[in-house]
Amino acid sequence: MKILLAGGAGYIGSHTALELLEAGYEVVVADNFCNSSPESIRRVEALTGKTVAMYEADVKEKKILQKIFSEQEIQGVIHFAGLKAVGESMEKPVIYYRNNIDTTLSLLECMEEFGVKQFVFSSSATVYGEENPVPYVETMKRGACSNPYGWTKFMMEQILEDVARANPEMSVVLLRYFNPIGAHPSGRIGEDPEGIPNNLMPYISQVAVGRRDHLTVFGKDYPTKDGTCRRDYIHVADLARGHVKAIAYGASHKGVEIFNLGTGTPYSVVEIVEAFEKVNGVPVKHEFGPRRAGDLPESWADASKAEALLGWKTEKTLEDMCRDSWNWQRRNPNGYR
Ligand code: NAD
Ligand code: UDP
Repeated sequence: MKILLAGGAGYIGSHTALELLEAGYEVVVADNFCNSSPESIRRVEALTGKTVAMYEADVKEKKILQKIFSEQEIQGVIHFAGLKAVGESMEKPVIYYRNNIDTTLSLLECMEEFGVKQFVFSSSATVYGEENPVPYVETMKRGACSNPYGWTKFMMEQILEDVARANPEMSVVLLRYFNPIGAHPSGRIGEDPEGIPNNLMPYISQVAVGRRDHLTVFGKDYPTKDGTCRRDYIHVADLARGHVKAIAYGASHKGVEIFNLGTGTPYSVVEIVEAFEKVNGVPVKHEFGPRRAGDLPESWADASKAEALLGWKTEKTLEDMCRDSWNWQRRNPNGYR
């Protein structure tokens, strides 16, 4: 079975490409490399000994998608292609709505044209918004997002549900990721953010490797045990395996299904910093600063539905996540560059 990974050269896409290849799928990648490098896919090929058909393509553009769909016998699509920086989405909302929604619409139009009926979507815990209690359950109402990035995910989930309702032959799986961290244990592929990292783990590992002076911990007065925010960190390899399960599930189920992909266990920012230092034996200089606008005190998954229906659950520990993040960073201090 041949799967198109839109945005497949990115952090989660490259790890998913590897897992799909190892599970026997064929992989086609379409990426414009606006936040990634083709080097990630070359390394996936080297690690698996398999080839990937790779297209430099803006997934908003239907013409190039039509070329890909006519050259490759695509049977399913996983849509990772999106802009994902929350702060940037507040400053440049139109770019976020244009990119994230148009990529989805163009993919859907081409899928209809070429009779492709299976869609897996990279959604996010952010769609649970500010009003739902933790742990988040898939049946909760989505909404009250705190930024345009979150609203793009909200809107794309709605679009995909409408499409599946209109076409009973379609299979749509919405995967709501929690906080992916870590890297492939080989240290050959990992997270390589452009510029100053927004996310916690790449920031920590860049401090540890000497690229940044110190980490600012955003807020220490949250209503949590140590006053810092708690999140459900998930190893990217576990997350990638979740996509293989979602593709297998979607091949035999029509309609829409939503799954949380998380561990179900939250850790605070301070716990993450301390675990990283302990596991890797490296100091992470950090200071406490003010809260970051839009951060919720706590976010974690009820991950039982994915276990029940997909037969998926996480296998990696926090120690694995910290060790693999550092292994990637110290072997590739400047990422893929
Ligand atoms: P990433 O930036 O590493 O990967 C996204 C990829 O999409 C990049 O390779 C980028 O070049 C590509 N892309 C963006 N716009 C494109 C376009 N118009 N045409 C072609 N390619 C395009 O990010 P990631 O962490 O791998 O995230 C993948 C998906 O998962 C995103 O949709 C993101 O919103 C979602 N997600 C990520 C997280 C996270 O914390 N990493 C959490 C929840 C959801
Ligand atoms: N965080 C932090 N300093 C940083 C980056 C993040 O203290 O430089 C905190 C942030 O406030 C949140 C947690 O780390 O509580 C996870 O943030 P991240 O941006 O990685 O993911 P989010 O949960 O916001 O999607």
